[in-house]
Amino acid sequence: MKPKILISSLTGCSGCISTLLSLDIFPQFLERTKIIYFPFIMDVEEIEECDIALIEGCVSEDSQVNLLKKIRKQTKKVYSIGTCAGFGGILSLSKKRIAEPVSKYIEIDGVIPGCPPPSKLLGNCLIKLIENREIDVDIPKKNLCATCPLRGEAEENFQTKITQINPNPEEIIPVEEDTECFLKRGILCLGPITRDGCEHVCIKEGLPCEGCMGPVSKSFFSNTINFISLIHLSKKIRNYDGIFYRFSKPTFKR
Ligand code: SF4
Ligand code: SF4
Repeated sequence: MKPKILISSLTGCSGCISTLLSLDIFPQFLERTKIIYFPFIMDVEEIEECDIALIEGCVSEDSQVNLLKKIRKQTKKVYSIGTCAGFGGILSLSKKRIAEPVSKYIEIDGVIPGCPPPSKLLGNCLIKLIENREIDVDIPKKNLCATCPLRGEAEENFQTKITQINPNPEEIIPVEEDTECFLKRGILCLGPITRDGCEHVCIKEGLPCEGCMGPVSKSFFSNTINFISLIHLSKKIRNYDGIFYRFSKPTFKR
């Protein structure tokens, strides 16, 4: 029997759902599953029993909490897709709106991280989910530095004085063989405290990591403090609010 799937969006930009719809394997996903609730593309209001729920977006309204509770009651496995649903996302930096991860309100079975999740990661996870296999092995456990093409000798002669959050515009060029780690160049890169799995899209294009894959582990706060203790931030950078947790503030507070 085909697994029954529910796909719901809370508060977000719909980038995760758009990524899902544009996956090469999406037609295969549709063939092999029965979508029973997906307000983005169909008019169904009732939430029936289902096997897998995929939730995009953060929780920013009371009505969403009720929806989540209904979904949890009717669903065997619930997954957060994207950094908003997984860790609160970029909206959690707002001083005017609440933005919390789905796991604050209901028990979840996993997070497929990213803003949006990388297509390969999302596609692999979806196939495993519909085959009733665990996706945990697909979610990287290391930080981004572990596989970074700029890793080189980053540990040695580590540049600790960080004066910029981005390279100068003329320096934003795709990485070359001799490109140095951003930290060595005095540019803040959150690779040491960010989950691997994005295939270094930004780094390869000449931009440092901003942390959109979310924290590597639940010890986000202590990991960040350890990282900050290794570097010396210029006064200008210290004035930026939320620079270390711009995608994961609710997780940082825990
Ligand atoms: S995780 Fe990123 S892409 Fe997905 S809904 Fe949030 S802001 Fe949009
Ligand atoms: S700090 Fe950034 S550039 Fe340096 S190795 Fe880590 S991810 Fe790569």
